[in-house]
Amino acid sequence: MFRSTNGRVVENQTKIDTINTRFKSALEANDMEGIKQIIIDLEIVCPISGTKNWTDVRQFNLMFSTEMGSVSEDSSKIYLRPETAQGIFVNFLNVQKTGRMRIPFGIAQIGKAFRNEIVARQFIFRMREFEQMEMQFFVRPGTEMEWYETWKAKRMQWHKALGLGEGKQRFHDHLKLAHYANAAADIEFEFPFGFKELEGIHSRTDFDLKSHEEFSGKKLRYFDPELNESYIPYVVETSIGLDRMFLAILSSAYNEEKLEDGSTRDVLNIPAFLAPVKVAVMPLTKKDGLPEKAREIIDILKYEHIYQYDEKDAIGKRYRRQDAIGTPFCITVDHQTLEDNTVTIRERDTMTQERVAIADLQRIVNAKVSINEVLKSL
Ligand code: ATP
Repeated sequence: MFRSTNGRVVENQTKIDTINTRFKSALEANDMEGIKQIIIDLEIVCPISGTKNWTDVRQFNLMFSTEMGSVSEDSSKIYLRPETAQGIFVNFLNVQKTGRMRIPFGIAQIGKAFRNEIVARQFIFRMREFEQMEMQFFVRPGTEMEWYETWKAKRMQWHKALGLGEGKQRFHDHLKLAHYANAAADIEFEFPFGFKELEGIHSRTDFDLKSHEEFSGKKLRYFDPELNESYIPYVVETSIGLDRMFLAILSSAYNEEKLEDGSTRDVLNIPAFLAPVKVAVMPLTKKDGLPEKAREIIDILKYEHIYQYDEKDAIGKRYRRQDAIGTPFCITVDHQTLEDNTVTIRERDTMTQERVAIADLQRIVNAKVSINEVLKSL
């Protein structure tokens, strides 16, 4: 109500809309001078130096080129892929036919991508060689907007289910669309340096399959038995950077926590199912047969979980070491263990300890580190 009735807000919104429209049409027309003129007209200043002395707006070359061929005269110029998606498109029919897939279905893959980034920085946020995890979801023409909305919602739900913190994710809808898209949005994550893109969701229409068909001369069509007709499917893509995901998890999970006794601990509050080491097994002392008992426990858990064995230093110090690498559970073998076959299991986040029977350990640890509950919640 306030937004639609307050004179000042309405006036500002109209200004924003006018600028956005002008910006969008300049981008779409590749009008570099027009973009520069917007910067000049709006009197935009560099937030760091305070200057308005801008260079001309230029188009940057974002692809890496190289040569293929043994002799230089015969070599042809090729480009390193800036996204992994095209491999999926050229294999679309192989997968559909051999997997006997019916539309709608998706193909997902992970692989290297290369971009000639002008400024590669912010740790592993922006690199020239990175790893992408992409899915192309093939749908009936005309249903792509529904699927686009479905995947936007699903992917956001998945990010939130990782438990990296409330309010850490948000959508950013694209103003300017790439030449192949009819809708696009980013899921942004609040990195230590602000909200930045983590994943892109794009409705790519039939652009890619159509182009491959055109330039290869090979049909890339799907026969839809329900409609009794062939068509080039439309595609909704989800594209996420593995490295950015890793940075998102690490940066949001790392905490320096003040404890009640005034000391601090470094702790990686990483979700248990993502923790690289799931469990640490520690004999309270190095003697009295406790290390041997600890080894027996490892023999129970080692087939399913990455573990660490640690008998060095005081137990408190050992807990801290595990906290710092995000190990969700520490199992301690003490003298009582020798008497009644129970151990303590300490939880990283709450630091609480519980006594449990060794016979129940496998079941307890399996349940606690399983990703199944998260997947079921989606
Ligand atoms: P940005 O606007 O940050 O440059 P983009 O819009 O070019 O990203 P997309 O083309 O949508 O990104 O690529 C999909 C995903 O690949 C991104 O969401 C991101 O996670 C990842 N990605 C893109 N470029 C890089 C890079 N240089 N280094 C690491 N990851 C990247």
